[in-house]
Amino acid sequence: MHFEVLTLFPDMLRPVFDASIIGRAVQAGLISVSCTDIRSYTKDKHRRVDDTPYGGGYGMVMQCQPVIDCIRDVKSRLEGSVRVVYMSPQGRLFNNEVAKEYAAYDNLILLCGHYEGIDERIIELEVDEELSVGNYVLTGGELPAAIVVDAVSRRLEGVLPAAECSEEESLEGGLLEYPQYTRPREFEGLCVPEVLLNGNHAEIEKWRKAQSYERTLKKRPELLNKDQNGEKQ
Ligand code: SAM
Repeated sequence: MHFEVLTLFPDMLRPVFDASIIGRAVQAGLISVSCTDIRSYTKDKHRRVDDTPYGGGYGMVMQCQPVIDCIRDVKSRLEGSVRVVYMSPQGRLFNNEVAKEYAAYDNLILLCGHYEGIDERIIELEVDEELSVGNYVLTGGELPAAIVVDAVSRRLEGVLPAAECSEEESLEGGLLEYPQYTRPREFEGLCVPEVLLNGNHAEIEKWRKAQSYERTLKKRPELLNKDQNGEKQ
């Protein structure tokens, strides 16, 4: 799968995509990620990409010309299915289901806004969907785009070391994951639960299921009232 991040700050994200599991997936050819500089598409002689808003008000708005040209150029070079997503606090809320949905595309174009956002006509002309990573406002779409690349990539076959890793993760199946422990057996007087040390896999599984349910009830009770699609029942 290919991710295309359109941004005014490409250097901000490159180290993120070079590191850890995502970096290894890129090295292995399982995914590819490009960070394209929107500014390189501007036709303004001063290389400007933004202007003041019509009607007045604070801040600057990213202009149609460089952003539209950038999206169209990038799109023209892609093969297969493409979804163009504008990272925006006004969008659909991102979650595991959306990540699963996006993982079915061949290409995901993630448009990052900055300043006061982008000219509305860009959304009308070239954006398939607006996507929010949460009910708060950030200074730019770069961190949200990195979240999407990470969450979608780890759903793709071969990206995680073992397939079952993502299946047992929190929120899969509507419950939080059970508690995890590693060596040593005792740390500052706190011991690993006995059941995890006895090698009885049936008992361990039973304990983990009960723990998953208990901690969901305690930490995120609202999840228990939702079906697999996150809808309230
Ligand atoms: N004026 C815009 C509004 O009220 O909708 C907010 C602009 S915000 C300061 C600048 C950029 O950050 C946005 O264009 C968007 O790309 C990104 N952004 C901010 N918060 C976000 C969120 N919760 N999810 C996704 N992107 C976000």
